[in-house]
Amino acid sequence: MISRKKLIAGNWKMNKTSADALTLVADLVASVGRQTDVEVVVCPPFTSIETVGKAIEGSTLKLGAQNMHPEANGAYTGEVSAPMLRALFTTHVILGHSERRALFGETDAFVNKKVLTALKNQLKPVLCVGESLGERELGLTLKIVQTQLEAGLDGVSKDLAPSVVIAYDPVWAIGTGKVATTEQAQEVHAFIRSLLTKLFTEPVAQKVRILYGGSMKPANAPELLAQKDIDGGLIGGAALEARSFVELVTAAAAAK
Ligand code: PEP
Repeated sequence: MISRKKLIAGNWKMNKTSADALTLVADLVASVGRQTDVEVVVCPPFTSIETVGKAIEGSTLKLGAQNMHPEANGAYTGEVSAPMLRALFTTHVILGHSERRALFGETDAFVNKKVLTALKNQLKPVLCVGESLGERELGLTLKIVQTQLEAGLDGVSKDLAPSVVIAYDPVWAIGTGKVATTEQAQEVHAFIRSLLTKLFTEPVAQKVRILYGGSMKPANAPELLAQKDIDGGLIGGAALEARSFVELVTAAAAAK
């Protein structure tokens, strides 16, 4: 069986000025900047991408963006494109986060365009999928995840599929302190892996990292990260402080 390198990605959301971002990333470089057992990605707001990119030069940390427009340039006020991100040495981009879907009306079709554009530009998409509390209570979890996953990956080739990272982010667990139980998370991760197998074949599906996101903290991470199909975490709140984020990276290294 292929062993997948664990990935811990910090989504800083709309937090930190450039100065604050620099302080945080300097701490991360000092603590986990030589980490090679775990892939560590930091995703600051656009305003700090360049500053953070310079601060991680020479370390093993990688740079991610939180969003991106599918077009390369044009009249899209307020948006940022893949070539712009690439020019700042961004390697990853979070796409289809539930906050983008719920607050900014992003559809599966729009997210799919971004996924294809990211791959064309050698950016690794972190495609987020996940159900709301109401959908879980109606027993629709797997159906929602399947729809978002299949639509988001439409047109992705078997060759490029291993560059995609999937994040299972149950909406009801994001920023709420409610974490999915290990069984709930592993069930959905295994389901996602089975869908990837159908879409791309078993060997390809075995290469794709599937992250869990939703109130992952140092206290609950070891158990989640020990699950067969949980290959890391997409971290919101706990990524805003060096200490908790470093503990999550350490937990992922121990779980490998
Ligand atoms: C997220 O926004 O993807 C997330 C997982 O946030 P939090 O860790 O704060 O729940």
